[in-house]
Amino acid sequence: MTAELLREQDGLAAALAAASTSLPDTTALRPERFGALAYDFGTRKLSFLRQRGSAQLRDQFELGLDAPICLTWELTYACNLSCAHCLSSSGRRDPRELSTEQCKAVIDELERMQVFYVNIGGGEPTVRADFWEIVEYAVAHHVGVKFSTNGLKITPDRARWLASTDYVDVQISLDGATPEVNDHVRGTGSYDMAMRALTNLQDAGFTDAKISVVCTRENIGQLDEFKAIADRFGATLRLTRLRPSGRGADVWDELHPTAEQQRILYDWLVANGENILTGDSFFHLAAYGEALPGLNLCGAGRVVCLIDPVGDVYACPFAIDDQFLAGNLLAEGGFKRVWQESSLFAELRSPVTEGTCTKCSHYDACRGGCMAAKFFTGLPLDGPDPECVKGYGEPALAGERTVPERSCDHSPLHPRRNEPVLLTITRRERA
Ligand code: SF4
Ligand code: SF4
Repeated sequence: MTAELLREQDGLAAALAAASTSLPDTTALRPERFGALAYDFGTRKLSFLRQRGSAQLRDQFELGLDAPICLTWELTYACNLSCAHCLSSSGRRDPRELSTEQCKAVIDELERMQVFYVNIGGGEPTVRADFWEIVEYAVAHHVGVKFSTNGLKITPDRARWLASTDYVDVQISLDGATPEVNDHVRGTGSYDMAMRALTNLQDAGFTDAKISVVCTRENIGQLDEFKAIADRFGATLRLTRLRPSGRGADVWDELHPTAEQQRILYDWLVANGENILTGDSFFHLAAYGEALPGLNLCGAGRVVCLIDPVGDVYACPFAIDDQFLAGNLLAEGGFKRVWQESSLFAELRSPVTEGTCTKCSHYDACRGGCMAAKFFTGLPLDGPDPECVKGYGEPALAGERTVPERSCDHSPLHPRRNEPVLLTITRRERA
């Protein structure tokens, strides 16, 4: 992400008009309070145009945007796998899932709001019979798509179609650089399925696929190997944080990186970070010193949100709980009304002035860490992140806390052949 300045003397409207004529055809421009956002569908890069004298971008983002930068849309809770750490506890389709026509209406609204692209996930989104129809509709309506998949439906034919459009980006999930590490979490055969998908994409000439890795205690030692796999396929590596959301709550104690591994990860990102995507995953590590590339704040309800398969809108993909439910887009006013008027989002966009973290000398760097990680480990939202790199998370975890019960669970009802076997942590009842 890069920031550029608009020429002050032109005024915002004139500067935007000038900028729009000089931008390539593949770039869309969206006015915002601070200037504008520009998204290039060809390079899939987002740029910021900021009026001279306006506040820093991070401060602007904390106050929220007119529309999300990055909206995650989980099309279905159905999944062919049953990953141990699934953030949305997926497996079974919800019978209330949005219909094809409802999905198209959502895309129409996102186009009107100039949401540049959506991250489509699930569950496994490609198991929906209308998945490709929805993707094609989005592309035709100038809403770019990045979709996450375990690789199930990335056939040679489909890979060729994907290679023929600028508007679709593909993200293959891989949680181990070897089958043993990956399949322990994602299920038997899932490593081979991911590799087959990457091979099909490469053979079809699809450039710059993403390989998305949830960093765990078992794979932190494989960072160089992940990078080598990405390089081999001409792909970009994307590292994300394991949050204790969904089934991730059951395995978080066992799988989240140790304090020592967090330091290894930080040093690795400092050395390699410019070429690695991380989203907002690791800003809590900024308390070690230098900020990492990526979004250095919690974007929940400010610049990101989640639309779930039944149209419920949550503050972020890792916050599927009634407490973070902002509304449903099938209600009057649709998604726009939820984004712009929900009281939850208004609250999340208010400046944080209270709590233990605001008194910490590292607060400006790490902003108190991840709201979802705190909530699902039963810690107060204004206190330290459970993985606080200054060590304040451990005593908080050792103290009195109540881990919330899962408010939404679509896990398979019966064990299946591919289901990974991991220790299940007993959970206390919601207070
Ligand atoms: S709650 Fe955590 S995962 Fe969600 S936007 Fe904030 S930092 Fe990111
Ligand atoms: S106490 Fe809070 S602000 Fe300080 S380093 Fe830890 S998480 Fe960050």
